[in-house]
Amino acid sequence: MNKRLINILVKHAEKAYLKREFEKASLYANQAIDLSGKDNKDNNLSKIYLLKGKIQNSKGQYAQDNDLIEDAESYFNQAKTSVPSSLDVQILLNYGHVFVNKKNYESALEKYESALSIAEKNSDLELILTSMVHISRVFINQKKIKNAFEIAGQFFLLLDDNVKPATKLLCYEQYIAVHIRMGHFVVAAEYGVQTLELSIELEDIENEIKVLNSIAITHAVKGEYKQAFDYLMQCKTKSEAIGYHEYTGKSLINIGNIFSALSNHEEAYSNYKNLVSVRTLYNGLDDYTKGILLYNLGCIAYLLDKKNEAFRYLNQAKEIGEKFKNSRLIARSQYELIRIYLGEEQLEEALKLAKIVEQFYTTSDGNGKENESHLANLAEINYLQGKYETAIEYGIKASQRASEVQNHKTRKRSYKILSNIYKKLGDLENAYLYLNLYSEASEEFFKEMRRRTMVDLEMKYETSRKEKEIELLRSEMMLQQQELEYTQQLTEKNEKVAIAQEEIRQFTYAVSHDLKEPLRMIGSFSKLLSQKYETVATSDDLEFFGYINNGVVRMSDLLNALLEYGRVGKHDDEKVWVNLKTIMEDITETYYLKIKEEKAAIHFENLPIIHSNRLMLFQLLQNLVANGLKFKRPDVAPIVKVSYQEKDEMHIIRVSDNGIGIAEEYQERIFQIFARLHKRETYEGTGIGLAMCKKIINHLNGDVQINSEVGKGTTFVISFPKTDLSKINDNRNNDAK
Ligand code: ADP
Repeated sequence: MNKRLINILVKHAEKAYLKREFEKASLYANQAIDLSGKDNKDNNLSKIYLLKGKIQNSKGQYAQDNDLIEDAESYFNQAKTSVPSSLDVQILLNYGHVFVNKKNYESALEKYESALSIAEKNSDLELILTSMVHISRVFINQKKIKNAFEIAGQFFLLLDDNVKPATKLLCYEQYIAVHIRMGHFVVAAEYGVQTLELSIELEDIENEIKVLNSIAITHAVKGEYKQAFDYLMQCKTKSEAIGYHEYTGKSLINIGNIFSALSNHEEAYSNYKNLVSVRTLYNGLDDYTKGILLYNLGCIAYLLDKKNEAFRYLNQAKEIGEKFKNSRLIARSQYELIRIYLGEEQLEEALKLAKIVEQFYTTSDGNGKENESHLANLAEINYLQGKYETAIEYGIKASQRASEVQNHKTRKRSYKILSNIYKKLGDLENAYLYLNLYSEASEEFFKEMRRRTMVDLEMKYETSRKEKEIELLRSEMMLQQQELEYTQQLTEKNEKVAIAQEEIRQFTYAVSHDLKEPLRMIGSFSKLLSQKYETVATSDDLEFFGYINNGVVRMSDLLNALLEYGRVGKHDDEKVWVNLKTIMEDITETYYLKIKEEKAAIHFENLPIIHSNRLMLFQLLQNLVANGLKFKRPDVAPIVKVSYQEKDEMHIIRVSDNGIGIAEEYQERIFQIFARLHKRETYEGTGIGLAMCKKIINHLNGDVQINSEVGKGTTFVISFPKTDLSKINDNRNNDAK
């Protein structure tokens, strides 16, 4: 009877433990202990002690409370004395956990390895997998990522359908975590969601939280900040609920990083700040993370113009770096401090610090090589001091060193400094050269940044040299902020331009469209008036009516042309097979009367079928041919020729006439809207035709040139790229009559 009750209590306790409901779990476990207390040899008792130990151990881990961890250890000792060997491995594993929580990784590894060898002897796959997962975790703690990765590969291969879901979850979670640290985000993302679902199904809250954080990172590296943010918020809420400070802290930092990436400095600041000011959370972080956090906070504070805070945090970060002999952290905090001094024009201070950094680099950093960021600082210091030659030397050294280690940000900064120096020296050629190098480097920097923005944080556990590149990127948060802000501004500007263009288009359309109606009214009422007063009107009156009428006709022409201009490219960008010959035949037919009157001629030969937009080509050729017929010399019959040529990947169409020609100084202006070179009395027209041609040519991504001689004639040479036929279905029936 008791036994069954105990079993039920243990089950409840285990379930509550999985949900990390510590109070509840302890309550059930204590009752179970009470019930089975008399019989020390009971198998159940070991199990319960084990569970009690686990509860205390997790509580201790979350709260970073060593007393609780010691307590856990004593429960495991009791579990061991109260026996059976089937629990040996479990107990060993839990000893391992205790050591992990005490940060004694060597001993933890020892326990896990003995657990593994017993499990192997017993051919117990579940426990083999569990031990391997924990070994892999310890390797991560020790920053031996390669080893962690190898083991993960091994246990992943051992997984099969018979493995219990809980064990599978453990394996998947570690597999993902390892891949994230290796920078294999695609693999991590592939397993993320299914692992999350499994953890929810099993109500395993701790693994759920870890996976939420991992999934967020896989989104963030792709720049999918919204999704990343959502996952992090879940991660934060859930870890807060169970008091898992380490992960609350992690989510806060990651959320801060997302806001930084989005240039939302205020939010980033408030998330970082929140983390720093809540002691329990802050203490839940390991020291290196604390350093990075303070460093990030310092950079952001500076951006927000909170200079004192920036100094304070960066100095704190530096101190942590010094305490733990982390040379990169020291250097980068100092490097940012120097930048602040430079920004404040406190040259003396900057110089003092730069000297310390210099010493540091030539002594403790080994390799004898100077750090590129430091060199760039020296370049800037010398520049500000007016020592241009020395500044140039440092600038060039900085850029070379930055190229060597692929530090695009500092490469970019060095080029900018060099460009500024040369500008100051009046050497515009070199200034321009470095400006160009600067923009090239910026592009590379952006590409890199997109991918890395967030990786950053999770990589903080990796301080080994092979991760130097990432380390560097992390140190460059501040400029990254500015750059992101800058791109965002650019995007905004582009968007504004697009909106303005659309507004202009709508405006042109609305104006021309809506004006037609009142114009028609003016026209018809003036006609009515002229008819009504026909008998009494003087010749002056009739002349006036004539002016009104001409005005109306002319305005109507203008509006129609404007409407057509506004429509170019609006409806139809579709490309089909277009027969240029057919188009020219249609145009010739349109001008049949004019040709006859003027004894004009339109010649075209060997025109091909090309892949392009039919309406656009029709309007283009019609306008050019019409102009060729219109701008004729007195007493010379107009001849217009249209010919085609292909050159490399370009179509070239020539439209030439034997008309009055266009003087060179006007050849650009005539493409502007309403630009005309003649009085209306001499040559009719609206001044919109060529503007429309230009717009069409732009739509075709082409170009137009004019060859003309006044009094002899004009040739318009239009060139535009061929369609890349490999990208379309070759279906020649469209317009190829
Ligand atoms: P429109 O023909 O309605 O005046 P366009 O925009 O077609 O307006 O042309 C603008 C101006 O360019 C014309 O007014 C004319 O002065 C000049 N132009 C255009 N085509 C020719 C041509 N083939 N020969 C000489 N002048 C031309």
